[in-house]
Amino acid sequence: MSPAPVNIVLSFEDARRVIEEQAALVQASGSECVDLLAADGRVLFEPVVADRHLPPFPRSTRDGYAVCSADLSQVPATLEVIGEIRAGEKLDKIPLNIARGQAASIMTGAPVAAAADAVVMVEYSSLHGRQVEINRSVVTGENIVACGAEARAGSRLLDRGVRLNAAALALATSVGKSTLQVYKRPRVAVLTTGDEIVDVDATPGPTQIRNSNSYSLATQVRRAGGEAVLLPVAPDELIELRRLIEEGLKLDLLLMTGGVSMGRYDLVEQVLSEMHAEFFFTGAKIQPGRPVVFGRAAGSGGERPETYFFGLPGNPVSTMVTFELFARPMLEALGGQAPHQLTFLHARLKSEIRMKTGLKRFLPAFVSGEFDKAEVELVAWQGSGDIAATARANCYIVIPADRECILAGEWVAVMKSDS
Ligand code: AMP
Ligand code: MG
Repeated sequence: MSPAPVNIVLSFEDARRVIEEQAALVQASGSECVDLLAADGRVLFEPVVADRHLPPFPRSTRDGYAVCSADLSQVPATLEVIGEIRAGEKLDKIPLNIARGQAASIMTGAPVAAAADAVVMVEYSSLHGRQVEINRSVVTGENIVACGAEARAGSRLLDRGVRLNAAALALATSVGKSTLQVYKRPRVAVLTTGDEIVDVDATPGPTQIRNSNSYSLATQVRRAGGEAVLLPVAPDELIELRRLIEEGLKLDLLLMTGGVSMGRYDLVEQVLSEMHAEFFFTGAKIQPGRPVVFGRAAGSGGERPETYFFGLPGNPVSTMVTFELFARPMLEALGGQAPHQLTFLHARLKSEIRMKTGLKRFLPAFVSGEFDKAEVELVAWQGSGDIAATARANCYIVIPADRECILAGEWVAVMKSDS
């Protein structure tokens, strides 16, 4: 007799906690070296350390005059200009001994002469031959970033687990890293199930549906830092479904879609139970995506450590939402990324929403307007199978499980749908 499928339905928060706990346990696999320009979106393996102080010299942040601030305690004051300091100026060309009553003309990004303790902006000066009249006083250190104030030589600038973006790559470049050691991308099996599903190039029969989930998932996997491997569509039939699940369990993570609801031909949980999988949950109190399944199983050979799997509901919007909420953090952990929270923003609700309580909802919506003018509105949809509505949306409005009514004008949390 095969073990009966379990039934573990968690609140959204508990399901997220389970994901966090499991994500903290995973081992990311291996690293590789990539060029700086190919490193966007990759996850740092080897921390980046400052090879010298940043800035490496006291840097002027303005075009103006390097001065002794004490000379400007009374303004206007007239100073003698003894030289010019350009950005990139060689050290032996910098007028070092600016005496009291003297100034050096200086450019943004140039090293400030040691004897000067402030830079006054050119806007507050007028030059007459070698004499400059300054009509604004400055405090010590004004318009100068001290040597090493941004980072000390030898200090850690970027930690292991950071996902590289433009700012992180700029920082790595500033300390001379032309290549970076990053985690390998986790390989993610994507397995769609369903007798009615045909692939994009096939001509669907009148009751057949084209497989869109494998392609939305492949995109989400790539954006989350993984490499998607698309398996053939599995029929709603035990033997072939099991064969393909075993294939998928050979990779770093298995994502399945469809076959996890209550229908007679929803066989994914049955197959996994027969394989003695461990289930962490088989449902979450959310909409869309309630029947989402998360667990861990070994392939038939048992030669490989247990692989995490998700059974994502087949309705296309459910698949996308449950990937973002649950599968993405596991994939990121497998890719070495440090844990982080879901990214969201707030916007004012345009029209009132009424809901039944009990489920936390992530409903396709459209956010417009910038900053404090951000407004959001549900898109009209036919439920979680409506891909056309989702394609018109650019976010999900997040509705807490205990809210029956949200009034127009209230600020609501919004999760971006394409990040
Ligand atoms: P299921 O979760 O298997 O009950 O499927 C729920 C709904 O999603 C059904 O209407 C399926 O036809 C549809 N569906 C399942 N898998 C896919 C897929 N890969 N692409 C598009 N629609 C799908
Ligand atoms: Mg199905």
